[in-house]
Amino acid sequence: MSDIPVTLITGGAGFLGSHLSDRFLAEGHKVVVMDNFLTGSRENIEQLLDHPRFELIEHDITRYIDFPGRLDYILHFASPASPADYLQMPIQTLKVSSLGTHNALGLALAKGARLLLSSTSEVYGDPLEHPQKESYWGNVNPIGYRGVYDEAKRFAEAMVMAYHRTHGVETRIVRIFNTYGPRMRLDDGRGLPNFMRQGILGEDITIYGDGSQTRSFQFVSDLVDGLWLLLMSDEVMPVNIGNPVEISIKHLAEEILQLTGNKSTITYQPLPAGFEDDPKIRQPDTTRARTLLGWEPRVDRLDGLRATLDDFRVRLEQ
Ligand code: UDP
Repeated sequence: MSDIPVTLITGGAGFLGSHLSDRFLAEGHKVVVMDNFLTGSRENIEQLLDHPRFELIEHDITRYIDFPGRLDYILHFASPASPADYLQMPIQTLKVSSLGTHNALGLALAKGARLLLSSTSEVYGDPLEHPQKESYWGNVNPIGYRGVYDEAKRFAEAMVMAYHRTHGVETRIVRIFNTYGPRMRLDDGRGLPNFMRQGILGEDITIYGDGSQTRSFQFVSDLVDGLWLLLMSDEVMPVNIGNPVEISIKHLAEEILQLTGNKSTITYQPLPAGFEDDPKIRQPDTTRARTLLGWEPRVDRLDGLRATLDDFRVRLEQ
């Protein structure tokens, strides 16, 4: 049997999954991407299709996952991840993190594979504790529009812990904070890509509310480093991976506008329907990532934003 480790990435044709594919191929793994292209795209992985250690399987993981042969790692990343997406696809969002996580864990158990769950800062909801530590249980409205994502991810964490405790499956849980970078969907509806697209095209920049709500943005390469370290560590309990530098959405919009060099106007709009539970503040406490993994974000926001803008410009011109 070959010594090459085999890694399955669910949702591997999405923004994060495609960057993970690059990294795991570079680390010498065989990478199998499984995606149903609900929000992922072929473009993200096109450059990998001819790679001898890469395979694409089109499959909806809410259905039984048939996976022949060796499997060492599962990176479970399938799910819509933008509020605009999960407001439009509430049932798929609930199903992928519940049924899909159950199937992925069943596969991990059958193969003796280690599974890493991509969880989210959304498990903290509209947080009453700041910054958010992993020990905080969160403030989530289960019946709000956002609840379909938040509760599904909370269920997924519970399911992962149950498989770990009951069956001894090797599991890892990462809680990912706002992440950006090349290959983000131009139209995924999130603040950062909206502002970039609007800034490049010279359209009005749409801030929801007064822009005082905060987020903490990390560049995708920092996240990928953290995920690799976590997967290869022994840490079973959740770890936040995010950049602790917190800024207001208004500040972000102004920064992006300045970087584009265009003359868009910043407009303030009421929160759209479904955004009632939009978190007002968000900042990761990264003590666990620093002390357990020796991880720290390295990319300065302005550098990351410039690299992302370059990628957006190329794709918008196509
Ligand atoms: N937002 C905005 N304008 C937009 C899209 C989003 O002001 O065109 C706001 C949104 O209300 C939220 C923040 O930007 O307060 C970050 O939202 P994002 O869509 O990135 O996702 P979230 O961090 O809420 O998961």
